[in-house]
Amino acid sequence: MSYSDLQQQPIAMFDMDGTLLDLAFDDFIWNHCLPERHAQVHQCSLEQSQQTLFQFYQQHKHTLSWYSSAYWTAKVGVDVLQLQYEHREKIAARAGCHQLLERLKAKGYRCWLLTNADQAGLQLKLENVELSPYFELMISSEELGHAKEDVGFWQKLQQLHPFDPTKAVFIDDTVAVLKGAEAFGISKLVSILQPSSSKPSRNVNELPYPALNHLTELFDYLESNNLETNLQVTDAKTA
Ligand SMILES: [Mg+2]
Repeated sequence: MSYSDLQQQPIAMFDMDGTLLDLAFDDFIWNHCLPERHAQVHQCSLEQSQQTLFQFYQQHKHTLSWYSSAYWTAKVGVDVLQLQYEHREKIAARAGCHQLLERLKAKGYRCWLLTNADQAGLQLKLENVELSPYFELMISSEELGHAKEDVGFWQKLQQLHPFDPTKAVFIDDTVAVLKGAEAFGISKLVSILQPSSSKPSRNVNELPYPALNHLTELFDYLESNNLETNLQVTDAKTA
């Protein structure tokens, strides 16, 4: 395949936590382990720790600090990265993750992993779930200096790794992140119905973007949306 052919291939851009990986791990760390450890370290009640931490969460949501383990460690006096390592056996892929990635790879789709996890957090996940072989690019928003919610993330990404937004599809469980991508010019946006196996599915009618139940549904979505305008895609339903 020539270089120019390769540039014509659609790019599937994936979020990591809550999209490819089960957000139950992160829920467990932030909502259960951290309040417990915080209460031990600061010699206060679990209720006091929960109140303090949940207030911090509200203040910092969707900012780059929110995603930085170093920031949280300094802010709350607990080594959050260490805490995640202690429970790393709970890190798991969502159902259909590897099945989907295998199919995309076989079909020649280019895949990028774009995460708000900081570089240390990304490293931890990659050590525990095999994702690296499927991606030509893996980016932490920490490297770019903007969270994905911010158009600046996408502008910086495009400067460093030129891509055509009309030929990209972006899959992310967080609506605020999808809105950032939309503001930049990516129009093919897909969400996830149940980012965490420890919480119920969201209502499809409450999500402003199409949402996947099983990850492999994305494959049919890609094939039927004629992302490759130069190729004739046969839709089994209308052919
Ligand atoms: Mg996510």
